[in-house]
Amino acid sequence: MNITVTPALHRKNPRPPESDLGFGTYFTDHMFLMDFSRDKGWHHARIEPYGPLSLDPAAQVLHYNQEVFEGTKAYLQPDGGIALFRPDKNIERMNTSAVRLAMPTIEPDDFLEAIKAIVLIDKDWLPISEGTSLYIRPTFISTEASLLVKPSDTYLFYIILSPVGSYYKEGMNPTRIYATDEYVRATRGGAGAVKTSGNYAPTLVAAGEAMSRGYTQVLWLDSAEQKYIEEVGTSNIFFLIEDELVTPPLGGTILPGVTRDSVIQIAKHWKLKIVERPITIDEVIHGTQNGHLKEVFAAGTAAVISPVGTIGYRGKDYIVDEVQIGALSQKLYDEITGIQYGRREDPFGWRIKIA
Ligand SMILES: *Cc1c(COP(=O)(O)O)cnc(C)c1O
Repeated sequence: MNITVTPALHRKNPRPPESDLGFGTYFTDHMFLMDFSRDKGWHHARIEPYGPLSLDPAAQVLHYNQEVFEGTKAYLQPDGGIALFRPDKNIERMNTSAVRLAMPTIEPDDFLEAIKAIVLIDKDWLPISEGTSLYIRPTFISTEASLLVKPSDTYLFYIILSPVGSYYKEGMNPTRIYATDEYVRATRGGAGAVKTSGNYAPTLVAAGEAMSRGYTQVLWLDSAEQKYIEEVGTSNIFFLIEDELVTPPLGGTILPGVTRDSVIQIAKHWKLKIVERPITIDEVIHGTQNGHLKEVFAAGTAAVISPVGTIGYRGKDYIVDEVQIGALSQKLYDEITGIQYGRREDPFGWRIKIA
């Protein structure tokens, strides 16, 4: 792939202080772009100064939402280099997502080359404080000006970068989550397993209501019976029941998280009992009462591992593990971040050094 580079004449200055980065608020100096048309295929790979896109008001993505995105990070290494974490999984997932939305796929080698190129050109944006990283947001949209409900004939793939702060500035804090039986996130046969923008807007009202009642996230239940647990906010979920780690199986309504897969592989490597099986909200509530439920944690790229201390359901709160940070949650967090930041051995070959 031939990438044309137009360097930014003015680098953003001053840079935000690392203590104020937060998540996804600041963007770097450049972006990667590439076009697709039916006759030319993918073409015109380029890096340009970060800036607004020009879209026709009839662009298909704005009306019918043929859009998929990804989220992964670049991490500073002890030797001053830069590493990615399992980018092949994000690339594979974005292509699977694209196929579900009748969009073309992207050659995985070109995709990885694009990520490397944009991260390297803006590598001085990689924050250096403990727990910070450079968030990578590949985005893929349909651009044809047409109000017909049909797959677009033209697309834009772009990658933007955002320096992000440490998720745990004051240390891990167990969250309060609310299991809703009023709203659902995904239905069988739908697009719940796809990282597409259309899955998120309908969750905002539910999240807002949970927040107004003092919870941080929504715990999603299945759409058919509101009985089985699916995932939490934009993370997957795990339960430690006695000595067995349980997570809901991927069945099309749950996002197949890279962190979820990493937790499963590490648990197997550690010879823990790990099972993917349906788990009901009733089983979890009973587990908080009879003491069998030892830990609950969410798993996702943003927070890596996020312990859950309280589960709200039908107006009542149920306490997990005395709102402590569970030992396994902490151990998994240390292991995964240890691999990402190059502090630990990487027996799985997940760390991809790019500088
Ligand atoms: C991105 C996402 C996840 C977590 O996936 P990771 O690859 O681990 O970051 C889980 N659920 C939803 C709905 C998501 O959007």
